[in-house]
Amino acid sequence: MAHTCIHWFRKGLRLHDNPALVAALRDCKEIYPVFVLDPYSPNNVNIGINRWKFLIGALKDLDCSLRKLNSRLFVVRGKTDEVFPKLFQKWKVTRLTYEYDTEPFSLRRDKEVGRLAEEHGVEIIYKVSHTLYNIDRIIEENNGKAPLTYNRLQTLVSSIGPPKRPIPAPTCDDMKDVKTPCSEKHEENYGISTLEKLYQDPESLTEELFPGGEQKALRRLDQHMARKEWVCGFEKPQTSPNSLSPSTTVLSPYMTFGCLSARTFWWSLTDVYQGKKHSQPPVSLHGQLLWREFFYTAGLGIPNFDKMEGNPVCTQVDWDSNFEYLAAWAEARTGFPFIDAIMTQLRQEGWIHHLARHAVACFLTRGDLWISWEEGQKVFEELLLDGDWSLNAGNWQWLSASTFFHQFFRVYSPIAFGKKTDKNGDYIKKYLPHLKKYPAQYIYEPWKAPRSVQEAAGCIVGKDYPRPIVEHEVISKKNIQRMKAAYAKRSPHSSEESPGKKEKGRKHKAPSVVDMLMKKKL
Ligand code: FAD
Repeated sequence: MAHTCIHWFRKGLRLHDNPALVAALRDCKEIYPVFVLDPYSPNNVNIGINRWKFLIGALKDLDCSLRKLNSRLFVVRGKTDEVFPKLFQKWKVTRLTYEYDTEPFSLRRDKEVGRLAEEHGVEIIYKVSHTLYNIDRIIEENNGKAPLTYNRLQTLVSSIGPPKRPIPAPTCDDMKDVKTPCSEKHEENYGISTLEKLYQDPESLTEELFPGGEQKALRRLDQHMARKEWVCGFEKPQTSPNSLSPSTTVLSPYMTFGCLSARTFWWSLTDVYQGKKHSQPPVSLHGQLLWREFFYTAGLGIPNFDKMEGNPVCTQVDWDSNFEYLAAWAEARTGFPFIDAIMTQLRQEGWIHHLARHAVACFLTRGDLWISWEEGQKVFEELLLDGDWSLNAGNWQWLSASTFFHQFFRVYSPIAFGKKTDKNGDYIKKYLPHLKKYPAQYIYEPWKAPRSVQEAAGCIVGKDYPRPIVEHEVISKKNIQRMKAAYAKRSPHSSEESPGKKEKGRKHKAPSVVDMLMKKKL
């Protein structure tokens, strides 16, 4: 039987390495590539304008690529459980394909759509391609539990073997017997939304540094892979949080939306490494992709992973509720130029370096403001182009020393940390231009500048730029004691080691990447 298919794009906004799309084309006479846009779905309500812009770019690019295959993208607005029954009937659909998604919200949504498909006699095919490995398989190999250490994850994936090779994008030849019926009213009925239609104000946008889309992703990947020496020598702790242009790949937004396949990234790196001396996980670029697998596995295997309460591996901490502190942090008004510059970059550009995330996350939580990591997670979710449920929750738990990382006595200084890689404060001057006339001596601590220096710089602390909201030296020591008290109450089950099988023959625990970062950069 020749099928009428819907291929449902959610993440996975690409044609390359898209096994579910390829499965849709098998024995198929008609294909409808669909993206369901539901601005009110729980995982969309908190999205900021930069991320919407990125998504619109990615959808336009996808539509453009589909046109080259004589097909089109159908953007349908509404709730998935209302949209699909209508589409199944209207187009007489017999098969629905999509990429497997491990987030709890997606699993619930897909279960409901699966039920509706069954009711309508629609066959479902889904494939794993958002991650390097089948995350369920990793958990299975670990006796049904998510590994809680990177080493354990590495052991598990080594036993599974290398990730599958990516598959090529469909060609016109693959599409020769497949049609996409389109009416003249396609744009009107199924066109890609604009920011205005999503109630976003384009006037508030700054220059788009990382435009969305598969073509942009592949070009960015190629540009990095051409820098063979850089790729082979890549060590995350050596990269800088405050360089004026990014010191890491900035492929994360493309990975989040699936404009770039993780397996394509992995195997491109393998090709570059071939026959050359190269860095190793956890600090290498392969190592970064394994961190992604690590947090995806945790996100699937640990209940309530995005919360403290009900999350069995998360240290329970008596975080304060302090709306003023939270707002000052989120709006870049803490009075610590390094922190405020990072939060400004995040708000304007939608991306900040990993170590910059370390600095602001530590500052908000256990370092200075003693505010729950869940609050930080929400702000990042709104502002990051790469906002990713599992990665965001996992890294916030790590930085707040709630889960995975337990050296809570190591606190990032909002003054000394940035100086290590940017003595002159050029990064601060770029994002906080009102401080640009400050001499290097005071740029990280403008409140220490004599009045005459503040006047000469044209920026008076307390008037033109805020005073620091806390005294770091004092508060960080107090917070370490509060953290110590929280740790004293921890149950023995929330230990660092994986509850899975014992690792054989491993005598020394390898240092974690955060260990290395902390040792090097504090
Ligand atoms: P590169 O160093 O070039 O790494 C390549 C790829 O590896 C990245 O694109 C990403 O997919 C993956 N990767 C790198 N570091 C990590 C990591 N620590 N954990 C998991 N995957 C990683 N990353 C997100 O993609 N989405 C988030 O919502 C997110 N929230 C974070 C919140 C906090 C508090 C912290 C400390 C980190 C967070 N990260 C998040 C992880 C990391 O900071 C970014 O993935 C990375 O900075 C993206 O830049 P890049 O693409 O240049 O990374």
